[in-house]
Order: sequence, then C-alpha cells, then structure tokens
Amino acid sequence: MIITEQKPIQNIIDSLQEYSRIFIIGCGECATACKTGGEAEVLKMKKELESSGKTVTGSCVPSAPCIAAKLKAELSKNIKGLKEAEAVLVLSCGLGVQSFRDNDRLGLAVFPALNTVFGAVMDAEGNFYEKCSMCGECVLDITGGICPVTLCAKGLLNGPCGGMNKGKCEVDKDQDCAWVLIYKELEKNNKLESLKEIRPPKDFKKSGKPHKLVMAK
Ligand code: SF4
Ligand code: SF4
Repeated sequence: MIITEQKPIQNIIDSLQEYSRIFIIGCGECATACKTGGEAEVLKMKKELESSGKTVTGSCVPSAPCIAAKLKAELSKNIKGLKEAEAVLVLSCGLGVQSFRDNDRLGLAVFPALNTVFGAVMDAEGNFYEKCSMCGECVLDITGGICPVTLCAKGLLNGPCGGMNKGKCEVDKDQDCAWVLIYKELEKNNKLESLKEIRPPKDFKKSGKPHKLVMAK
C-alpha cells in the first residue's frame, strides 16, 4: 500500500494557475484506502476547483492508475472530458501521476494533488505502518522478521546505537527501539547467536534508481 496525503489546496490551485479546464483522476486502490483519492475526494476536489473559478471537464477513478491497462480503459471511457481539458490533476501517488503521463496520447499537462509519503501495511483497524524501505537486500531472515533499515531511525544493521534508553529510541522516545524488538524476537526463538555475526555494510547499488523488471518478451 502506498500512502499519500493531500497537498495544501492553495498549492494545488497555484500549480494550476495557467489552466482553466481541468480533468481529475483518482485512484481506486491505495489512495481510496488512504481517503486521499477515492470517489469522495475526487468530488470534493471538483467542488474546490470550481469554487476557485476552474471548469472541471470530467473525472474518473481507475481501479489502479499505476497499471497501464486499467488506466487506459478508464481514459478511453472519458475521452470527451479529456479532450475538453487543458490539464489533468491526479489524486494518486507519484506512480499514478507518471503512469498517466506515459499513457496520455493527448499530451495534456499533468499535476499531482497528493504527496507520496511511504509504503505501508494496513492493520485490521485501517491504520498504516511503514515496514519496508525496499532496500533491495532483505535482512529479515536474520533479524527475526523485523526490519532495522526501516524501523530503526538510523537504519543500523549491527545492533542498537548508544542512545537507546529503556527500550525506547533516542530519536523518538514514543517508539520502541527496533534493535530491542529484534533482540527479544531472536531470544524467543533461541537465535541470539546470530547477533554475534557482523553484518557488512549494505550494498546501496541494489537500491539504485531507477529500478525495472521487464517481463514482456
Ligand atoms: S531489509 Fe527492510 S527495507 Fe530491506 S527489503 Fe527487507 S524489509 Fe524491506
Ligand atoms: S535507539 Fe534503537 S531504533 Fe533508535 S536509532 Fe538507536 S538503534 Fe535505532
């Protein structure tokens, strides 16, 4: 799940200042779950833009705008509104915004309404927690399934820093120290021996950008 938050409305309106006819695209997956880009938020944005003097030529909420096939199917259903627009405002993460740019055959100007913040798991109550930074070299097998790259404020790989206090992180005293959690988990599973092994520095080439995974032959 990609977590997004809406940019301040005035920033959005300022970014669209050169354009008066706008088409709005939401996201039926993550941004709907975060309540930043679902049907309700698209409708609210339409009202905001209209009250600032813009004309909204149409809107749609593709089930996943980051997937070209799903986005293109929705764009073709809305071609009239798109042709009337000068610019498109996308209420999704940066993936959806760039997916629109890649699949737009009309060459429209495209703007993000949201900031993309982090990748997360969602608990049963609908809260989101960042758990993985997509580092490209997973160490969960030796850290009891707890990610030090993401959950330790300093991303340490070989145990806690000197600032840990009573199990809490020195950077944020409301957070458990990730390495205390890792220690307890390894202790529970009789695997504390693995902490004696020094982990080499991560190979940051593996998290180099941009990644790609080409599946089509
Ligand atoms: S070590 Fe952490 S950041 Fe890296 S892939 Fe595993 S869970 Fe993700
Ligand atoms: S106190 Fe623990 S979680 Fe916080 S930075 Fe130090 S090792 Fe990481």
